[in-house]
Amino acid sequence: MLIAGNWKMNTDLPTARQLARAVISSVGKTRNVLVAVCPPLTNIDAVFSELHGSSVQLGAQNMLAGEFGAYTGEVSAPMLRAAGCRYVILGHSERRQYFHETNQIVNQKIQSAVASKLIPIVCVGESLEVREAGKAQDLVTEQLRTALDDVPIHSDVELVIAYEPVWAIGTGRTATPDQAQEMHAAIRAILVDLYGSETGRKVDILYGGSMNPGNAAELLSREDVGGGLIGGASLKAEEFAAIVHAAENAV
Ligand code: PEP
Repeated sequence: MLIAGNWKMNTDLPTARQLARAVISSVGKTRNVLVAVCPPLTNIDAVFSELHGSSVQLGAQNMLAGEFGAYTGEVSAPMLRAAGCRYVILGHSERRQYFHETNQIVNQKIQSAVASKLIPIVCVGESLEVREAGKAQDLVTEQLRTALDDVPIHSDVELVIAYEPVWAIGTGRTATPDQAQEMHAAIRAILVDLYGSETGRKVDILYGGSMNPGNAAELLSREDVGGGLIGGASLKAEEFAAIVHAAENAV
């Protein structure tokens, strides 16, 4: 199980430091649950120092494929690794929507992250329109198979998937536990097909989309829901910690 907080474009230096400290003290020592926070890039260094000695890991929200070069404004996987990141969120729906990231671009980024031993949290998920047209599973299958094309994974701990229905992100509307489990099971079948049952059955598949302390326990109790990617609620340390504790009880 992994509970990861996506702080998006929401903290400055003092608030990032404060939030990191509050997360560490509210979460406490975790049992069987990995915890990570993904601050904005300008706060990575400061949050890394705050997290030192705690069990909370650091992640980034995006990167460019490649290592070094003339790509103004971008950072790469080796740079994030050197800055102390263990995870990187890739293919988030906001990146797909506002920055036109295609499945192919996401695939290149994942390859680059894995080559640098960064663990990608690969986001997939359908819009409301697609769900209502009954095509959610087809779209997620296409997103996942293209994103993972030629991505060599040798163990379950090298990869995390996040199912994030776009209609549930930041809307207060959550997938029902049955809707989440149905999609997670479909994702699980693809992972087993790609990586074999030993690895594919163990990769964490997070649910993301308005997860909060009120709905976390039920979602996390479902068989293939292996954690949460948390946006809004990750900005409030106590809410984030309550989700972590719900995950501990669900393991
Ligand atoms: C997200 O953007 O990854 C997310 C899950 O956001 P929220 O929890 O706010 O819906």
